[in-house]
This record gives sequence, structure tokens and C-alpha cells, in this order.
Amino acid sequence: MNILIMGPAGAGKGTMSELILKAYDIPHISTGDMLRENVRNNTELGKLAKTYMEAGKLVPDDVINAMVEDRLQQPDCQKGYLLDGFPRTLVQAEAFTKIAEKIGKPVESVIALEVEFDTLAERITGRRICPKCGAIYHIKSHPPVVEGICDVCGGELTQRKDDTIEQLKVRMDEYDSSTAPVIAFYDKLGVVSRIDGAQPREQVFAEIQEALGKIA
Ligand code: AMP
Repeated sequence: MNILIMGPAGAGKGTMSELILKAYDIPHISTGDMLRENVRNNTELGKLAKTYMEAGKLVPDDVINAMVEDRLQQPDCQKGYLLDGFPRTLVQAEAFTKIAEKIGKPVESVIALEVEFDTLAERITGRRICPKCGAIYHIKSHPPVVEGICDVCGGELTQRKDDTIEQLKVRMDEYDSSTAPVIAFYDKLGVVSRIDGAQPREQVFAEIQEALGKIA
């Protein structure tokens, strides 16, 4: 299964991706996570990406395209992929059509999660993540058992630097201007399922499963 999951910051892409990868056994490839790992390890790519990321701006297309092309050739992508946060611009979408064709894995389904700004703001400011294992929490709706500590691995929970209202506004504007045309691009191919991401997580996932059932 070759799937893209899209939606603004805080729409639930990470949470839904965890559920999808468990149910369908395909790797969850988040370009944001890959970049953050590079920043943590202080690689050349990380050094380049850091300034863009901290400003809530997009990292240049050619850098991202090369990173994704390389990642999709890893053996764990044999059964397909769940790409999260890519493509985010029309240039990336067009480049990805060629990459996907080259590796024989064209996009089959695009899940577009839709959520309004106020809900996103509430989610983003309360979001806490585990830098060790990637688990995602929310201080009100999904708190860990012990405050500040990951239930899964005991890691110390942190807040992403870009999870602020100010950055959310920048990221929303970026999403609207750059990513909306990407959804329109895939709409023409008839592969987009729009899902209300403000619903309870079980309902959102049920609707995703229904959409993916069409390509299984
Ligand atoms: P995310 O975790 O998906 O919200 O991504 C965090 C940040 O990483 C974004 O604000 C961008 O700076 C960068 N980023 C992630 N994916 C991409 C992409 N496909 N194109 C450009 N920049 C990206």
C-alpha cells in the first residue's frame, strides 16, 4: 500500500500514522521526524534544515526530494509506505510522481485530515513528545501516567520548539499556500479522501480504514 497522509500541524497525522502502521505493516516515513533526527545528530542535512525548521519555513524541495527517494529504496518499503509530511509543495508532488514511477510505487491513496485553527492551537500547545521513542502525548486529552515521563520507554517528554501559536500561524499559512495545491494535484487523480480530523480518534481511524479498504 502506497499512502500519503496530509493535514496541517496538529491535525493528527502522527497519531493516525501510528495506528496505520500497526494495522497495515508499512513503514511510517515522516519527513519532519527524519529532519529532526538529522538536527539531533548534527549532520550536514540537519545543519541546513535547522534554520528553516525553527522558523516554521519549508526546507528546500531538492533536499527533501533526495532524502525521500533514498528512504523509499530501503528494504522495509517493499510492501509500500506511509508518507507523512511529504509532498508539501507542487514541485515536490511533481518530482515525487517521477520518483514513485521509477521505483514502481505510485501513490494509491491520499488521506487528507481537516481540522480548524482553534482545535489545532489547543492540540499543538498541549502536545508533548518523547524524543527517545517518538510517542506522542497531550497534557489534557492523552497525558502520560507520570507527568513528563514517557509511558512506553521512560524518556523525558519535551515540547517541540515549533509547537507555539506563533509558529502554528506560520505553518498554517505555509500549509494553505503550499500544500493545498498538492491536494488539488492528487484530487485530479481521484485518490484523495478528506476526513474530519476533529472527531474522536477511533472515528477518524475508522474512516481512514474505510478509505484504505478501497485500495486493499
Ligand atoms: P512536521 O513535523 O511535518 O510538521 O515538519 C516540521 C518541519 O520540517 C516543517 O515545518 C519544515 O520546516 C520541515 N519539513 C518537513 N517536511 C518537509 C517537506 N516535505 N518539505 C519541506 N520542509 C519540510
